[in-house]
Amino acid sequence: MRSAIVYGERQIQFDVVPNQVLGTKIRIHVHPNATVEVEAPIDASQKLIREAVAKRARWIVTRLAEIDEGRKHVLPREYISGETHFYLGRRYQLKVIETPHTPSQVQLKAGLLRVSVPHADAATIRRRLNSWYKERADSYFRKRLDELAGTIPWIDKTPPIKLVTMRKQWGSCTPSGSINLNPWLIRAPRECIDYVIRHELCHLKEHNHSKAYYRLLDKLDPAWRPVKSRLDGMAELLLTQ
Ligand SMILES: [Zn+2]
Repeated sequence: MRSAIVYGERQIQFDVVPNQVLGTKIRIHVHPNATVEVEAPIDASQKLIREAVAKRARWIVTRLAEIDEGRKHVLPREYISGETHFYLGRRYQLKVIETPHTPSQVQLKAGLLRVSVPHADAATIRRRLNSWYKERADSYFRKRLDELAGTIPWIDKTPPIKLVTMRKQWGSCTPSGSINLNPWLIRAPRECIDYVIRHELCHLKEHNHSKAYYRLLDKLDPAWRPVKSRLDGMAELLLTQ
């Protein structure tokens, strides 16, 4: 059901959907495609729903503005000095250094992502940088998966993981119980990486996004919703090569 309220000079349109979990609360989501969804108990009145949206109107308008802003900034990468690249949620400025006689290397130093390559052309830099991201992703994800799995009573052995580049997905869980993670997730903040890992770990017990699945995830990670929204909002930025 679609509805709207007026806030200042703008209209906020939203879709009302019945609550999937934990029946009593009204929850508001601003999705990365700039749609607003209000999760409400089936018996919530129109008035109650509109009041809830009005109360969060400032936050909704801010989130929508951020999404607009983010879209403007998503440009294809050129791999030149001065460009912004992300690592564990932080911005680094790329610095390209041509070193014809030494092996290529990548270093994080004082807010800079320094890439030394024999020939400073975009394709070479991109390749070198991507393999660096993948090495980092591999070791960071393994360590974190091990730590998080260790705190979950129903997991007795850390599941195997594989890095799989996906265009629109951060992770998945195979029927045989191994976890695939998108290496570009290493560009996201640590809390977002934890969220994706916990999301997949819950699939080891509940394979679908059923009510039982969300009950499990809520128990393991009660604050996952805003973290997911944050990651969704950055998806385009982090997945752009
Ligand atoms: Zn899932």
